[in-house]
Amino acid sequence: MRMIDHIFENPEAFAHEYRATLEALVGKDFRDCSAQDQYQALAQLIARKANREFATSDSENKKSDKKKIYYFCLEFLLGPLLDNYLLNYGVRDTVKQGLADMGIDLEELIAQEGDPGLGNGGLGRLAACFLDSMAAEGILGFGNGMRYHYGLFKQKIVDGRQVEVTDNWLDKGYPWETKHPESSVLVRFGGEVVRHEDEQGHYWFTQEGGELVKAVPYDVPIVGYGGKSVNRLRLWSAEPAHEDFDLDAFNAGDYAKAAKFRTDAEAISEILYPNDAGEHGRILRLKQEYLFVAAGLASIIRNYKYDHADAGWERFPDFVGIHTNDTHPAMCGAELMRLLVDEEGLDWDAAWDITTRTISYTNHTVLPEALEKWPIETFRRLLPRLYMYVDEINRRYVESFPRDIDNWQEKLRNTAILWDGQVRMANLSVICSHSVNGVAALHTEILKRETLHDFYELAPEKFNNKTNGISPRRFLGNSNPSLSALITSKIGNGWLADADELSKLSAYYDDAEFLDAMSASKRENKVRLAKYVLEQTGVEIDPDSIFDVQVKRFHAYKRQLLNIFKVMSIYNRMLDDPSYKPHKTTFIISGKAASAYTFAKEVIRLINSVADVINNDERVNDYIKVAFIPNFAVSNAQLIYPAADISEQISTAGKEASGTSNMKLMMNGAITLGTLDGANVEIAELAGMENEKIFGLKVDQIEAMRARGDYFAWDVVNADPNGIGRCVRQLTDGTFAGLSGNFNQIYDELMGNNDYDLVIADFASYVQAWEELTTSYDDQRSWQRRALHNIANSGHFSSDRTIREYATDIWGLN
Ligand SMILES: *Cc1c(COP(=O)(O)O)cnc(C)c1O
Repeated sequence: MRMIDHIFENPEAFAHEYRATLEALVGKDFRDCSAQDQYQALAQLIARKANREFATSDSENKKSDKKKIYYFCLEFLLGPLLDNYLLNYGVRDTVKQGLADMGIDLEELIAQEGDPGLGNGGLGRLAACFLDSMAAEGILGFGNGMRYHYGLFKQKIVDGRQVEVTDNWLDKGYPWETKHPESSVLVRFGGEVVRHEDEQGHYWFTQEGGELVKAVPYDVPIVGYGGKSVNRLRLWSAEPAHEDFDLDAFNAGDYAKAAKFRTDAEAISEILYPNDAGEHGRILRLKQEYLFVAAGLASIIRNYKYDHADAGWERFPDFVGIHTNDTHPAMCGAELMRLLVDEEGLDWDAAWDITTRTISYTNHTVLPEALEKWPIETFRRLLPRLYMYVDEINRRYVESFPRDIDNWQEKLRNTAILWDGQVRMANLSVICSHSVNGVAALHTEILKRETLHDFYELAPEKFNNKTNGISPRRFLGNSNPSLSALITSKIGNGWLADADELSKLSAYYDDAEFLDAMSASKRENKVRLAKYVLEQTGVEIDPDSIFDVQVKRFHAYKRQLLNIFKVMSIYNRMLDDPSYKPHKTTFIISGKAASAYTFAKEVIRLINSVADVINNDERVNDYIKVAFIPNFAVSNAQLIYPAADISEQISTAGKEASGTSNMKLMMNGAITLGTLDGANVEIAELAGMENEKIFGLKVDQIEAMRARGDYFAWDVVNADPNGIGRCVRQLTDGTFAGLSGNFNQIYDELMGNNDYDLVIADFASYVQAWEELTTSYDDQRSWQRRALHNIANSGHFSSDRTIREYATDIWGLN
């Protein structure tokens, strides 16, 4: 593997090059440029270096036989890149000094960068951490995704309510990307399939008519730590295939009609869809899925034919791996078949062998409502030729299904792709893949036992676990400079490349000086966050209080409702019993709800309404405060995680596939207050149960309870009129209605569905766990030690480790 030199020799060399770039870009003396101009120029300079590095290594790789991995994902939540790339290139100090010599503050430039919202949350952020880790590990790993014109909405809070504002992330331009029109791909939707036959009786099919769209790639360089390798993320944008401007309509004043050809095509990459609650079945979403699959595969095949002209198709899986993240790229299997058979002339069996050896699949959810399905009619009308492949894959699957196993009819019904008028995308993904993985040990067990049980019985060797991970560079190195510096001063900076080295910190469990320094760093991070919270919300919070943090998408199963019920009950208890003094705590909650998910949005309104009451009640606000931080995104996440004392991971057991904020918070020294769900299980195992606070019903208890059918939420409510009973009443009795009214919908869903997410069932155990955990904060030494146990054992959750496991177990790299 090549090592590159530092991209800048020294601060002077950097400043010289930077000044030239800046002045050429803006056309002004550097002293007259705005901070935004200065940021744009710095980002462009780094991107140019990275692009050149990519070009060099790409031409070398063409000659090598190194396998390339293409990671297909509809979301990449990259976050700001500048600080990360300076760290990865090892030039942060050089650049900072060079800028300072010009009178420019690097931190101010870093703060200029936007935060492209090309993902919803955990799934998109995972994909971004994987890009970082593939490059750091020297793997040729390329992202393939969509370049949405508008990212996920920005969240404002008005009268406690979430208000969605368009995310116009491209308004200042995106200096990291390069458009490559020469690599465009034409993609056809609709029309009809035409059969052709020659004199020898050979026949073939083409898809004619319909709508032709041009997929245009924009490439973003991905810089690996140590500058060892630069990879690339390719994002596709939709444009009209032909300029069909209607001049007559324009002259008649009908501008919309004149440009309709353009708006119809561009609509495909216009906006990212929210992931939760009833957003399925939209034809535009299906178009997005096909566009990025078809364009991505076409460009892979084009490169393969160029790079490996002599190798033949049988060796395709030796040089190419295609990883499908969740079911959004599920059409990869059928589309690769179509390309190999229709376009390249292979026979079915050879193409099928190649396809299944190439494709692998990661499942991300066990929620039945989240398993993607499309009506056959919709699918067939939009993608008539592709549908024939799906149909044939399904027909052969059904035909070859073993009839000598128990309950074969039921198993076939559960695993077939086409059933009941629908295309079942998870089944399509499993059938076309050689590997199926879950994202935490518990999640994979549930997949094998429940969600994909029949597939597991048919082919157990396909299934494996790959516990998620996070980038230690971004989420410790960039996010927590004071803790990073402390760690590096003791064990060196090897942990940035190999996070397992964090275990060397176990030498400091009894080192008072180190533990105090750790606390001082935590306090510094809390001061930094308190300043941000004040700016954003006007709420003043005390850095000397416990920071109790739950930040993630809003969803019923993630149970932000349970968290706020806890806060309400502490408030109630303080009013009832003036001698009760909880440990001084700031409850920090942040996250977006899908715009159509009214229950989740009502929980946001409840939290803000409770905050409004508590923060303005002098009887309690020396002890408790609530801060809802608007617009949760990667950039403010990086301020929040390092400031947390308590990591709230309180999903209903069995529902959270893995979670990754649990890992980020652990690595920043927060103690998990959580259920035994997702990767919390592995966190508790690695750091030690005694260093976390675990509560609540476990998966097997919940399954047994549901099977018995003997849980009645009303009984629990009635038995505890002052605790959970009072919280439930307060949803509708006006206590928190001052800001914008009562919460009847939450009440109705909660009590009308017998507490489906077991908020009421877990309430008592949760409040008690919180009480014990916060009481234990008084023993600072013990707390610091537990925090250090978390940091020292968090190396396992580096996405570098996850990626190495994908590389050896799934992608066949060594
Ligand atoms: C890590 C991260 C998430 C995932 O959080 P979970 O608690 O694991 O769901 C979501 N959004 C952002 C911005 C993140 O950085």
